[in-house]
Amino acid sequence: MTPTSIRAQGVQKQYPGERGVQALQGVDADIASGRFISILGPSGCGKSTFLRCIAGLEDISAGALQVGGRPVQGPPDGVGIVFQHHALLDWRNVRDNILLPIEFAGKPVAAHADKVDHLLSMTGLTQFAHSYPKELSGGMRQRVAICRALVDDPSLLLMDEPFGALDALTRDQMNVDLQRIWLETRNTVVFVTHGIAEAVYLGDEVLVFSPRPGRVAHRIVVDLPRPRPLSIRETPEFGRYTREIRHLFSEMGLLTEAAHTAS
Ligand code: ADP
Repeated sequence: MTPTSIRAQGVQKQYPGERGVQALQGVDADIASGRFISILGPSGCGKSTFLRCIAGLEDISAGALQVGGRPVQGPPDGVGIVFQHHALLDWRNVRDNILLPIEFAGKPVAAHADKVDHLLSMTGLTQFAHSYPKELSGGMRQRVAICRALVDDPSLLLMDEPFGALDALTRDQMNVDLQRIWLETRNTVVFVTHGIAEAVYLGDEVLVFSPRPGRVAHRIVVDLPRPRPLSIRETPEFGRYTREIRHLFSEMGLLTEAAHTAS
């Protein structure tokens, strides 16, 4: 797989209907192949909408959106997606859940056995290959979802708040694991989050979205060496990035320091 580039120029998305909202307005982004891009923004600003447009699951209303140099018209080939809720099939064990995209693509399942073994080992799930989703913790289920998204060697991995439902400690672990996996796969990743530290820790770049209608209000290049240990979050360099982003959110009126006291 060769990683994929993404180019958005003036992308707009208006949801249809009487109360249809303008979710995106003038999104410009130029994402080079093999980069890890964090998209950060307040709830409801259109982050998921933008991701679904890239995935070809939503049509754009205006502008231009290219994945791998081609306009998006329906789901492009070579895209893996991980959602906040793992969406595993309860009645299939871990191995068979991971193989689902291979079956859907009509590819030979047996030929992917080694690939599944490798993914299971990479994510520490080898001994759970025959377990069912309900027998796994939340973090393990998300790991299975990541394996499933990677099984067909996607050139582009789209992740929509994949760790949003996990407790803080598991989320930290998943951040470490995801970085390790990505350093091995080196595909292009677009990772949607509303966690500032998570966005900086994982990203080569952070695209900060404005409140709805969303657009890329700021692009911050995170120039920190990899692999990044979790402790990097306590360094002054890391703090400079998170401070800068918090400042941008304050400027957009999304963070205030004034005391809100309940009377
Ligand atoms: P975010 O991911 O940043 O939280 P979303 O992309 O989910 O934001 O939503 C952006 C806006 O678009 C919200 O106001 C949401 O209610 C609206 N929206 C999202 N999906 C749909 C849909 N299928 N139909 C109509 N409105 C939608």
